[in-house]
Amino acid sequence: MLLNYHLLSMNIPESDVPRIVIIGGGFAGINLAKSLANKNVQIVLLDKHNYHTFQPLLYQVSSAGLEPDSIAYPLRKILKTHRNSYFRLAHVNQIDTEKSQVSTNIGILSYDYLVIATGTKTNFFGNASIEANSMPMKKVPQALNIRSLMLQNFEKAAIANSKEDRRAYLNFVIVGGGPTGVELAGAIAELKNHILPRDYRDLDPSDMHIRLLEGSSKVLSSMSAHASEKAEQFLKKLGVQVHCQTYVTDYDGKNVITNSELVLQSETLIWAAGVTGAPIKGIQSDALIVRANRYKVNSYNQVQGYTTIFALGDIAMMQTEAYPQGHPQVAQPAIQQGKLLGKNLMRLIEGNPLKPFVYKDKGSMATIGRNKAVVDLKNFKFAGFFAWFVWMFIHLMALVGFRNRVIVFFNWTYNYINFDKAARLIIRPFKK
Ligand SMILES: Cc1cc2nc3c(=O)[nH]c(=O)nc-3n(C[C@H](O)[C@H](O)[C@H](O)COP(=O)(O)OP(=O)(O)OC[C@H]3O[C@@H](n4cnc5c(N)ncnc54)[C@H](O)[C@@H]3O)c2cc1C
Repeated sequence: MLLNYHLLSMNIPESDVPRIVIIGGGFAGINLAKSLANKNVQIVLLDKHNYHTFQPLLYQVSSAGLEPDSIAYPLRKILKTHRNSYFRLAHVNQIDTEKSQVSTNIGILSYDYLVIATGTKTNFFGNASIEANSMPMKKVPQALNIRSLMLQNFEKAAIANSKEDRRAYLNFVIVGGGPTGVELAGAIAELKNHILPRDYRDLDPSDMHIRLLEGSSKVLSSMSAHASEKAEQFLKKLGVQVHCQTYVTDYDGKNVITNSELVLQSETLIWAAGVTGAPIKGIQSDALIVRANRYKVNSYNQVQGYTTIFALGDIAMMQTEAYPQGHPQVAQPAIQQGKLLGKNLMRLIEGNPLKPFVYKDKGSMATIGRNKAVVDLKNFKFAGFFAWFVWMFIHLMALVGFRNRVIVFFNWTYNYINFDKAARLIIRPFKK
């Protein structure tokens, strides 16, 4: 039964089947849209970008290993065979739960069912100077900014007058020792070890420093002790200086101030220290966990207080006995919730009972440069070459689109054989 009269807006045709509006074409949103393909509902997918981003490989774009278009995939292409689906490039600003409408920069759209899958944004923990001067890595353009800045700094270092200036250009500080920070530090270390000596013969590689700053007592603190220890060993072997229990308290674009005596001069501070949810105005305030900016959802992903509004993936906080703080903000919960909600929405529409979500943890992994990775499975933890191989295989298979898989596979093989990173291009110079 239709819950609402559909406003004709955004050029979405009226229909006599329920309209499901999905905000966000990330892992959760696209898996939901796929599971509702050609079902007896109308799907409208809204995203502020026209592509899906494979965030786990953003660091390879930042470190010149991959071109951005090999980790991004057009959302319209995902929907191209779904006769019941529409995509609109739109930034959703507000939800009107009384009228069952979303308000966007391109118009207003009514919904029968609304799914919020807006993911997260970088968390600067309220520090305005860090936000203004550091480099986040959450989106493709931001990864490209890091790539440009890094290469621009190499160029500036090559013509710097003093050793002090040269070192500031070649001092890369990465904040956050989670998988993102660890993987990026390893990739930049490989640039130092393999690219700098060949491309920049006028620079002394020993002037380049890569520092990884982590607030807790170990890197990869969400993984096993084995993974943390191995990752730190691998990083050190690559020449990365790891500083644990070190918080950045301020950064003015040149001086990195920390909670310890460590003060660094650096033109590049990459901020990988955390994320916070990206909620949308209009949902009642007691459904939002303020600290994490995530919506409280029940085991069917229904947002607290609503029966027709759902939240999925990183933005959803489903507290269970096994996960009292909600599921980890990684791709698997988003994918699994998206797939299940597709089935549950059809059950709801057809008047059948819903199935609760149970997370199947498939393990976690991180790579630390060539031939090195750590993998934590439920009953088996391993590190080194085999782990690296497993990491590559899983990431390759998880990429959206056959073309992207082929391109990434080709690039990795080429880079492996030639010790190369082919995307060392300043296409769009970054202005600080
Ligand atoms: C650098 C990095 C590395 C990562 N590495 C890994 C990894 O190795 N393994 C792993 O499992 N996970 C990793 N993650 C986490 C993983 O990417 C996320 O958990 C996953 O993307 C969450 O999926 P999601 O669908 O909830 O949100 P997202 O994938 O973030 O998608 C959210 C979508 O919503 C859109 N959106 C947001 N707000 C609006 C709005 N107001 N209007 C319209 N559209 C909007 C965005 O454009 C985006 O397309 C990484 C994340 C980052 C940032």
